[in-house]
Amino acid sequence: MPNRLECPRCGSPNVARLPADPISPRPGYRCANCGAKLRDRGMLVVYLVVLLIAAGVAAVNVYVMAEEGVRLGILVMLTVCMACAGYSLMQLARPAPRRRRAEDDWPPGPK
Ligand SMILES: [Zn+2]
Repeated sequence: MPNRLECPRCGSPNVARLPADPISPRPGYRCANCGAKLRDRGMLVVYLVVLLIAAGVAAVNVYVMAEEGVRLGILVMLTVCMACAGYSLMQLARPAPRRRRAEDDWPPGPK
């Protein structure tokens, strides 16, 4: 039986995988019930690593510009780094979907 997922906010099993976006091939999920956006469960470490690398490269770029003056190529690189870091932060701020044990208790109601 495949792993079923549920929304950590409302408990709905109607969690749909989002299509790939320009930055991530696995951007996560969206709850069809409450609209919450959810992080892909396997991508936590990936986003942490991307965030660290992007922040590190951005810091180097800022250092180089402080030493040698502003250059267009470095500004572009810095913008890309900030976009990647921002994307990772946004993803890390999202909750991950829970694994679902039973699939017959939705909608929740009196038993
Ligand atoms: Zn939900």
